[in-house]
Amino acid sequence: MFAEAHIAADRRLQEFIGRLKALTSIPSVSTDPAHWPDVERAAAWLTDWMRDIGLQNVQTFTRGDYLPLVYGEYLGAGPNAPTVLIYTHYDVQPAAREDGWETDPFVPEIIDGKLYARGAVDSKIHVTAQLSAIACMMEAGSPPVNLKVLLEGEEESGSEHIFAFVAENPALLKADVTVVTDGSMPDPDQPVLVYGLRGLITGELRVKGPRRDLHSGHYGAPCIIRRRWSPRSLPSCTRQTEK
Ligand SMILES: [Zn+2]
Repeated sequence: MFAEAHIAADRRLQEFIGRLKALTSIPSVSTDPAHWPDVERAAAWLTDWMRDIGLQNVQTFTRGDYLPLVYGEYLGAGPNAPTVLIYTHYDVQPAAREDGWETDPFVPEIIDGKLYARGAVDSKIHVTAQLSAIACMMEAGSPPVNLKVLLEGEEESGSEHIFAFVAENPALLKADVTVVTDGSMPDPDQPVLVYGLRGLITGELRVKGPRRDLHSGHYGAPCIIRRRWSPRSLPSCTRQTEK
């Protein structure tokens, strides 16, 4: 059935590129309340597509100011087949031409074979590629595994509500393996299997220096040069320079 799915993918390529363009045209910026209706519009667009593909139990989960989690499943492989939970997100960070974009970030354009738009990489390509692959497998026959798809609408704004959602829905999300594709790869020809991800660390680094230019040979030397930089090496440098 995989050969048939590949044939379907080749035949439907333009349709799927059109899907990616349509999804990246929606400015689903979760960090800006003015764009929350767009996040909801993207969620509705995704549920329509998931139903169209033939996924079942397609629904959005939302509560209060909690942006939609989109869910859909295929359980046709039966209770003895493994279940794969696919997670990624459909919201994006803000973007404007003034930030240095050469094209409108929410008007996707293909230049030299690459599609430029906010979210084209992080992470709407993953949403589109995975749903396209599922669509092709459904067209080619019955996928050999059960599939659960969970798409988050507030990953870029801190994933505030997904933890409670996961805790409250163990049966819905029960799976043998979870696939998270919101990662990076160093090169198009070098795929990466990430086995640890998630989490966010923020900090503020304040660097103090002298009020006037100082000769690097005379004043730079007292810094203790460590072979490997660590935040602990900074205070000693700072103290030496302030003297
Ligand atoms: Zn991401």
